[in-house]
Amino acid sequence: MTHTRNTPASKDRSVVARSIREKTTFPAAGYAGRTRRAREEPMAVRPLRDGRYVVETEGGTYVADVEAGTCTCPDSSIRHVRCKHLRRVAIEITARLVPAPGERTSACAVCGRRTFVPMFDHAPSLCERHDHAPGDLVRDRETQSLLVVVRATGERADESVTEQGILVSDYETNANYGRHEPVFEAVYVDSVPLSGGVADLANRTRYRFPASRLRPVELDFADSEAVRGATDSTRSELMQSSPV
Ligand SMILES: [Zn+2]
Ligand SMILES: [Zn+2]
Repeated sequence: MTHTRNTPASKDRSVVARSIREKTTFPAAGYAGRTRRAREEPMAVRPLRDGRYVVETEGGTYVADVEAGTCTCPDSSIRHVRCKHLRRVAIEITARLVPAPGERTSACAVCGRRTFVPMFDHAPSLCERHDHAPGDLVRDRETQSLLVVVRATGERADESVTEQGILVSDYETNANYGRHEPVFEAVYVDSVPLSGGVADLANRTRYRFPASRLRPVELDFADSEAVRGATDSTRSELMQSSPV
């Protein structure tokens, strides 16, 4: 790429490059044969709505169906071998460059980062950094309190009403977080009788937070101290459900 950045022309090109992907390569990384060609040869992979993929190569454009294991190229359709296009699609799915069959590309509702979600899931999308699963241990960025996530509400901060009848987005402590952010319910770790286990969280008072106000927590030493009351089994349950 020799064009300079920051000119109107290059801006336009970057928009085009996003919708029509440029051909890229992967390092050969010691592979041989078709797998090596799948990595080294410039190809552009584009998902279709039906779960198949268009693979553009220097030698032609083919449609690969990774679930059926078929491709429209001669190697697959005539010689019935697992061609370099099928291999390349698999490599790009594994690298999270394209959605897997049954997934679609979406944008994180907090940071806009590209993320892949189930095709027919219309809840707000979140990237790995901003998504929380029930049982995740998180820290409130405002108060530094430890909480456990109970559930995603499926609502935005500017449509989610707390028990006090106030919109989540209208709280002063939420001024630093987007009004559009998905809201999660969480309970304070202090309020959880940890011997009761994660299932007991369902009965505790829940509080609502915009997604990015909750920071995923690794159970480091300080956090381990904070949940010292936990039995070993509950603690391991919490550790298993906290994000990596
Ligand atoms: Zn092929
Ligand atoms: Zn994000």
